[in-house]
Amino acid sequence: MKKLSLFALFLVLTLFIAACGTDKTASESGKSEKVYKVGVDTTYPPFEFKEGDEYKGIDIELINAIAENQGFKIELSPMDFGGIIPAMQANQLDVAIAGMSITEDRKKIVDFSSPYFDAGLIVVVKDDNSTIKSVDDLKGKKVAVKKGTSGAKYAVDNASKLGIEIVQFNDSPAMFQEVSNGNADALIEDYPVISYAIAQKDLGLKLVGDRLNGDQYGIAVLKGENKDLLEKINNGLEELKKDGTYDKILKTYLGE
Ligand code: GLN
Repeated sequence: MKKLSLFALFLVLTLFIAACGTDKTASESGKSEKVYKVGVDTTYPPFEFKEGDEYKGIDIELINAIAENQGFKIELSPMDFGGIIPAMQANQLDVAIAGMSITEDRKKIVDFSSPYFDAGLIVVVKDDNSTIKSVDDLKGKKVAVKKGTSGAKYAVDNASKLGIEIVQFNDSPAMFQEVSNGNADALIEDYPVISYAIAQKDLGLKLVGDRLNGDQYGIAVLKGENKDLLEKINNGLEELKKDGTYDKILKTYLGE
């Protein structure tokens, strides 16, 4: 009897220690599992936007699908586009997917994934405007752009050549509004974003002229610090293109 109870005690103790052991390993691995912070633009449909309490859009679905495919965890950090690169530099973000164009300037600060979308800049005016037919008709005009974007850089770089006055906004809807209500003569925005906005809402705006460049979107990680992550992102992108997920996501937001 005594032997038996000693044995039972031994068994209970062994099980208890084993359980503690498992427990510890689980919580330790839980702790060390990195959750990557992903910067997204707050108002940039069809790439990212809020519907109710939920963030939606091509970029949101794409980064979630990539993370799932490659087995890493993410947490979204929505912000104004102009804050994203500074937040990366301050180590507050690990990744950015924000309809972000791959540019030589940004390549000095971040590493980009392979391109995942062809965009390009376009000039937009009020739909009853008959004098501005392309970027060459902007002389003496007030042009709205969004802070920190490739559109803003285009405007600043070409300001004296084009003879334009520039007004800067924090987000795209505010910039659209400025031209809709006649406070600015034109704006410069990414072609897919403004086309989508005009198709969705009666903004009283129209596109003019050809695309100003061939900007392509890439997913950014901080330069040199996230090689493994960038590799996962590129592998994930490739897999989603192969298995049809990428096309399905685009179709959800852009139609056929
Ligand atoms: N594609 C543009 C850029 O990279 C604009 C991005 C945005 O406004 N979210 O600057």
